[in-house]
Amino acid sequence: MESKKRDIRALTREQLRDFFVSQGDKAFRGNQVYEWLWQKSAHSFDVMTNLSKATRDMLEENFVINHIQVDQMQRSSDGTIKNAVRLHDDLVVESVLIPTKTRTTACVSSQVGCSLDCKFCATARLKRMRNLNPDEIYDQVVAIDNESRLYFDRPLSNIVFMGMGEPLMNYNNVLKAIEKITSPEGLGMSPKRITVSTSGVPKLIKKMADEAVKFKLAVSLHSAIDETRTSIMPFNATFTLADLREALVYWYQKTKSRITYEYVVWEGINDQRKDVDALVEFCRFAPSKVNLIEYNPIDDGDFQQASNKAIEMYVETLEKNGITVTVRRSRGKDIDAACGQLANKSGS
Ligand code: SF4
Repeated sequence: MESKKRDIRALTREQLRDFFVSQGDKAFRGNQVYEWLWQKSAHSFDVMTNLSKATRDMLEENFVINHIQVDQMQRSSDGTIKNAVRLHDDLVVESVLIPTKTRTTACVSSQVGCSLDCKFCATARLKRMRNLNPDEIYDQVVAIDNESRLYFDRPLSNIVFMGMGEPLMNYNNVLKAIEKITSPEGLGMSPKRITVSTSGVPKLIKKMADEAVKFKLAVSLHSAIDETRTSIMPFNATFTLADLREALVYWYQKTKSRITYEYVVWEGINDQRKDVDALVEFCRFAPSKVNLIEYNPIDDGDFQQASNKAIEMYVETLEKNGITVTVRRSRGKDIDAACGQLANKSGS
């Protein structure tokens, strides 16, 4: 029966080799299958043409390949592409390709929905249904790499874990996916081109530092004042700014990798002098830079982009204090693909 079959991509190369030996075959068949699965992204056993028909039938009887399906692809007037990705159990997540003149960035999801409840985020309105497997994360990246080659004539250059979900709440699978993305047996991408963006789980930031990861870290900060941050990101009551700060100092000591703070300025929430002063203070603890991100309202609710004057105050103050700051215009707004807008509106 179909349900008894195992997901073949949950097996390591060694396990695949052992499987073939247990079937009375040669271990190197495991290598051949592994290459089909990961380097050639095979969606079926039929395409594995260097295996005999009998071997392919035997695999078909024992395993499934739970490959993702890009159900719907929307293209924005600015070139951004949003994929609605259907998983083997019919759940849907979204991932986005963001092209600029010099690079193509994939923004990928790590969970179906999200376990946190940031008040400004569309994904937070979907309850967390499950974590994505490493191969489901990897497949999103491969799909965007293919689209980048097809539509922009170049491979994918960067990846950000900024889609649906909190990547550190799916720690093991995200790290396994990155291992595959960076391995020569996968896409062979440099980890320096990958950014994991978290809302800030101190214990897990320290764990990543201890594991000497090579990718970059971004933190969705949005306020450096506890009371304000807790009002928009309620988990801040548990993971306070003091704990986050300590973890970030630890991260920098261990990795020597500069931290990026993602920050949206909202009218009436964090657009005052005291807010920028607190941010400057927070930036002093570890080498960092600030991305001020344009906000994409998800409805007519409480969150509206602050005035240009407030943004200018942020930029001037940060620069005056020697902190690198970039103002990021949002992409893909017309297809709800911009930051904080991913909520499966295009899905089932
Ligand atoms: S902003 Fe990120 S962590 Fe917060 S609810 Fe949305 S997806 Fe989850």
